[in-house]
Amino acid sequence: MSLARKTALVTGGSRGIGSAIARRLAADGSAVAITYGGNKAAADATVAAIEGAGGTAFAFQADAADPASQRAGVEQAAAALGGIDILVHNAGVAEFSTVADDTDETFDRQFGVNVKGLHVGTRAALPHLRDGGRIILIGSISGEMAFPATTVYSATKAAVAALARGWAKDLAPRNILVNTVQPGPIDTDMNPADSDFAAQVLGAIPLGRYGKVEEIAGAVAFLAGPDASYITGTTLNIDGGATA
Ligand code: NDP
Repeated sequence: MSLARKTALVTGGSRGIGSAIARRLAADGSAVAITYGGNKAAADATVAAIEGAGGTAFAFQADAADPASQRAGVEQAAAALGGIDILVHNAGVAEFSTVADDTDETFDRQFGVNVKGLHVGTRAALPHLRDGGRIILIGSISGEMAFPATTVYSATKAAVAALARGWAKDLAPRNILVNTVQPGPIDTDMNPADSDFAAQVLGAIPLGRYGKVEEIAGAVAFLAGPDASYITGTTLNIDGGATA
């Protein structure tokens, strides 16, 4: 197994893309810890799925937007795992509004989870992250292109890719590789494939369909694995051709 004897922390691993990433990394041999915001039942279900398949998993509540909570979640995960090889920052929120309806609260909430949570979490993880480790950030093609009524979210995801580029250089001396995976529309609670929003954006996807969570998890597993040993500071778009 490509990730045998590795350990991974996946933020927001209770549902959607994060749950699929946690299950895939575990299937590839890694012990996995997930954090979640409020949905304990979903987090427990992810852990149960991994353990049911013979893997090792832990779940910890940690609000990515609250620095003390985020730091505590990382510390608990590092202790349970005995150090971290792979850190996946997946937790994220999206709120739909145009600039006329944006508020200070919607701005702060999205930047708090999607950007500051990554900065706090990475700094907390660094003492536990082994040399040669990987950090994978879940950005979005929204960081490169505008979708309807999601400008603040887009700005957070542009910031995510910028963090990865900078951290790739900061952490190269420790051979810690840092990359961003930028999904296009993926069918999850955040972005259901049967919504009005989906009807608006489907025409912009050459493959003509929403992506599946497993299609993002596979790319994360590649970037976490031995075949990605010379890849750092880049973004990988997985979007059915939307940014082509
Ligand atoms: P979901 O809404 O399905 O799941 C979000 C996950 O993040 C849940 O595990 C949730 O935990 C967790 N989370 C949310 N807020 C917090 C918080 N404050 N603290 C800790 N955890 C939190 O989203 P997706 O799976 O669709 O999205 C995952 C990532 O992928 C996000 O970063 C998103 O921006 C990105 N993305 C998604 C796309 C899509 O089309 N779906 C496209 C491009 C990028 P809980 O269950 O406890 O609420």
